[in-house]
Amino acid sequence: DQKTVLITGCSSGIGMALAVRIAKDEKKRFKVYATMRNPNKSEKLAEAAGRTLGRTLEIKQLDVCDEKSIKACVDSIPNRRIDVLISNAGMGLIGPIECQSLEEMKAVMDTNFFGLVRLLKGILPDMKRRKRGHIVVISSVMGIQGILFNDIYAASKFAVEGFCESLAVQALRFNLNLTLIEPGPVITEFERKVYEEGLKTDLSAADKETANMFTNVYLKNYNQIFQSLGQTPEDIAKHTHKIITTNKPPFRHQTNNLYTPMTTLKYADPNGDLPIDTFYKMVFEHDKIFNASLNFIKMLRWGSRKSFNLGKPQQ
Ligand code: NAD
Repeated sequence: DQKTVLITGCSSGIGMALAVRIAKDEKKRFKVYATMRNPNKSEKLAEAAGRTLGRTLEIKQLDVCDEKSIKACVDSIPNRRIDVLISNAGMGLIGPIECQSLEEMKAVMDTNFFGLVRLLKGILPDMKRRKRGHIVVISSVMGIQGILFNDIYAASKFAVEGFCESLAVQALRFNLNLTLIEPGPVITEFERKVYEEGLKTDLSAADKETANMFTNVYLKNYNQIFQSLGQTPEDIAKHTHKIITTNKPPFRHQTNNLYTPMTTLKYADPNGDLPIDTFYKMVFEHDKIFNASLNFIKMLRWGSRKSFNLGKPQQ
């Protein structure tokens, strides 16, 4: 009995890696509906899917910002049966808020948060009726902890986490599983697009200090953070595949054990000052502390990859 898996945002990055990994499950346990806003962009996925295309993987149209498109997609699936829903579609936004328009901010909330809400409005009632299903949401470590100049993006992921924490109690009553996957930095189009948009930001609405902080502190270190801490989309897919094949999936799963110490700071200090002070020092006393911690992380990276058996780090 094959489980059906619907994944959103599969034309690139994590979504594409997820679709391919799950469709290539060694025991052929899954039938994957890999969805994307624009199926004209399916070439890369089709290529990566190889022989699974038309067998354990099928490509469908779905725009998480359009309720009609969600309904049409779900209706096209036999018995509307979705056993595993993976909500992955999302977008980023970086920069000082005084340089961003409300429209840009709303687009992020509409995709990252209301996109998930629309999906669940369409799919949760069926799951509840069947008393069977697993909802997997690609959140972020920024769903637990804010990061400088990611104000709106972090807010959208906090919204996702609050929404899921609330729903999780009800889900339990219906025998449904709900899991938040929380990756740290992942090297995808997303990160490149966000960076390039960041470089283009019109900083004229910001004061000198803020503009300087964004350009010469944040953007300057952006690539370094991704290079030292970044995982691949395939890493995230591996973790997620494990989560959907495990008996008792956890509510939260962080994919990057190098990032976990940062998130524990939040729980270590009920006043909430510890993570903020630490991030402040990382950013502004960066020459001393930031470089030291990057070197430390590089050292850890090799050790932990070995012990978690995730293979060699990329060069
Ligand atoms: P990506 O840009 O490669 O993928 C995002 C996908 O979502 C794209 O294919 C895009 O077309 C799709 N999408 C956007 N709006 C959509 C809509 N309205 N309907 C359907 N699809 C839509 O980036 P990614 O890194 O693979 O991101 C996937 C998820 O992972 C996102 O939710 C992101 O927030 C999360 N995430 C990414 C990182 C990272 O560092 N890259 C880290 C943590 C979490």
